Amino acid sequence: MTECPICFRQSMNGTELCEYHEEALTRLRAAFAEWEKALGVGWIDYLSLVYRTQELGLWVREIVAYLTSRSAASMLS
Ligand SMILES: [Zn+2]
Repeated sequence: MTECPICFRQSMNGTELCEYHEEALTRLRAAFAEWEKALGVGWIDYLSLVYRTQELGLWVREIVAYLTSRSAASMLS
């Protein structure tokens, strides 16, 4: 069993995230596909843009913060 790195609930079915954050990530990715098509933004730019909007649900906001810190960390290494 692994734990969701964001909320420490148990993750489901071998995924990294719990079911709530996994679902939020799925929604985030689906929305990104639209943004990418319409505006030509990249993933990292998308994350920072979307984080500044106030319409995000809590789960999505946590996912964005997590992904942003993880990608920032991987840029440093
Ligand atoms: Zn979680």
